Amino acid sequence: MLLALLFVAPACGESSLSLGAADVAALLKIHNIADSYGEMTLGVDPWEVVVCHIPIFTSDEIFEPTLERMTLSSAEIVKRFTPVVSYFKRHSYGRYQPVFSAGQDVTISDTETSDDCVERALDQSGPEVRGVIVVADAEHGADEFGGWGTPGVGCTVSCSARKTRRSVYAGGGDFMDYWNGDSPLDLVEHEIGHALDWPHSTTSASNSGQELYDNALDLMSDSSAPRMLISTKRHGPGTLAINLYAARWFDDEHLQILDRSRRVNTKVQLLATDTDLSIMGTRFVVIVDGVNSFLTVELIAARGDNAHLKFDAVAIHRITVAGTSGVDRQQIVIDGDMQDGDEWTKDGLNVDVLSITSVDGQIEAEINIRSVERNSVIG
Ligand SMILES: [Zn+2]
Repeated sequence: MLLALLFVAPACGESSLSLGAADVAALLKIHNIADSYGEMTLGVDPWEVVVCHIPIFTSDEIFEPTLERMTLSSAEIVKRFTPVVSYFKRHSYGRYQPVFSAGQDVTISDTETSDDCVERALDQSGPEVRGVIVVADAEHGADEFGGWGTPGVGCTVSCSARKTRRSVYAGGGDFMDYWNGDSPLDLVEHEIGHALDWPHSTTSASNSGQELYDNALDLMSDSSAPRMLISTKRHGPGTLAINLYAARWFDDEHLQILDRSRRVNTKVQLLATDTDLSIMGTRFVVIVDGVNSFLTVELIAARGDNAHLKFDAVAIHRITVAGTSGVDRQQIVIDGDMQDGDEWTKDGLNVDVLSITSVDGQIEAEINIRSVERNSVIG
């Protein structure tokens, strides 16, 4: 039996060497963190939308000093969020559905801050509400951030927002009259992403808060990339396979795991990450090379919410699991645009894109992942 295995192993690569997600410490950690938040990424998720009135003489310097105020009611904002519901239905393959309802407006005094808006909205939210979205009726200054989002504290039963403090906050900029009713939605989608416990991704390895949110492949990075290229676009891009996996929108069967501590030489057939889940196949590869760290390889189709990308592309990211929530995870772009015939080689590993093909709308890539001598030059 042992002999047979030894004989078979080199021929089919993964068969006897394959790992399950349960064998990989970093993936286990991602599962445990997701478990600590219960099922907030699955099924119906009731959000309350609240407008916060900002006094004209506010001392909070985040706001642009102007008399202009957003005029939408929370019910009108809820209506404007209708496409956000479809965005998440699409990207979760129907597994997650935010439901927005209009809540009571809140008001802060001259000396209070935008954070007080959110505290007030959370305090008044009902027991069935699992998150609040607060939109200030004033615009932020041009140099200020647009908003923020948080999954709140871990919770597995009776997870009301009042208890967990799960919330999203945005300045009024995207809802001002000058948009003529056609608000960009990528900011609120990005902040809801944080409330689903997704971290930022970036091309820079700096962990000092100086990261650039410059990854046009990821809602959790350059979320406005689609409309910067195609002005009529309103949604953010899709997000990375690892986020979809952490949210349990991908299952273990959608993942192929390779172990760097052994020699690898494996061909993988990848389906584009936006492929309907009724079609069986690998959506991403995890190459384990540390206790808390691994590489992911996925195929991103240049269509739908990713239509701003020039071509379908294979992307490699380095994921480092840290802290006690998903937002602490570090996600760095290694190569975000590998085309047919492109190779990436580093630290004894070679990833070779053999082909990217599209047949009847099904986009697939064949890639080869193999161990190479360190410092060897690939011709
Ligand atoms: Zn963010």
